Amino acid sequence: MSDHGERAFTSRTPYGMGHEITYAGALSFMRRNYSRELDGVDVVVSGVPFDTATTNRPGARLGPRAIRAASSNLAWGGGPWPWGFDPFATLAVVDYGDCPFDHGKPQGVPAQIEAHAGKLLASGATMLTMGGDHFITYPLLRAYHARYGPLSLVHFDAHSDTWREDEARIDHGTMFFHAAREGLVDPQRSVQIGLRTYNEETHGFNILNADWVHENGPRAVGERVTEIVGDRQAYLTIDIDCLDPCYAPGTGTPVCGGLSTWQALSIVRGLGGIDFVGMDLVEVAPAYDVGEITALAGATLMLDYLCLLAARRQG
Ligand code: MN
Ligand code: MN
Repeated sequence: MSDHGERAFTSRTPYGMGHEITYAGALSFMRRNYSRELDGVDVVVSGVPFDTATTNRPGARLGPRAIRAASSNLAWGGGPWPWGFDPFATLAVVDYGDCPFDHGKPQGVPAQIEAHAGKLLASGATMLTMGGDHFITYPLLRAYHARYGPLSLVHFDAHSDTWREDEARIDHGTMFFHAAREGLVDPQRSVQIGLRTYNEETHGFNILNADWVHENGPRAVGERVTEIVGDRQAYLTIDIDCLDPCYAPGTGTPVCGGLSTWQALSIVRGLGGIDFVGMDLVEVAPAYDVGEITALAGATLMLDYLCLLAARRQG
């Protein structure tokens, strides 16, 4: 029982899982140590509780809290299924807390998010970020581009988020149009998965829409994504509305006909051949959630990403 209690404060190491009681304690992601000491850290988790770019129902600003809470139920005991190992045995992961910004000056927020990401990436760690609405991925990609150059984007969503506009606005439906045009990502080596809304322009992105996923299955999706990305460095962005509303009601812009939780998890588990340098999980809006199922799906997808990284490291 010696390691029980407030691991987020009391742990002195970024490694290992504990046995903290699931329904109590400080809610860091996966009971990681809250820390701003990034020496030797592999992955730094942080939240960006910004949802001003939302077009429909707001509330994703509360996503990081909800995901941290749901993750406490995954941070108990040994390794997660089906991996059979503790990803934190080899990966040093801390929870940095949330990105600071002035909500009263929304036009300044993108630069504040980019500066936050730039500071964390300068430590040599990669980032695992909780939104917030999907707009936050745009300033994150700017910071990534400064360090890594153009990345392949692996993008799960009901929506393309590439709708054309003349002038860059703070909108969670247009940022990948700008990201592609600015060269932050390489659309030819990127793929969008689970789409089921209409946009006549692809802007060069490869698309495996929701029907393609349903007809071909998770294994084929994983193979196709791996083929498209090849050996490029890649960034994984998961809009939780890629899932069907019955698996993820807690989101601002739900669309029927989406992926099941098991399909999304199964696809992610099939991406072990890809060199990911970052991930975000966005659009969890807990006010519309039922029984925390959306937040739990988000937390589990994030944990599976960490398991992918740990498995690559273990060879
Ligand atoms: Mn989106
Ligand atoms: Mn979406």
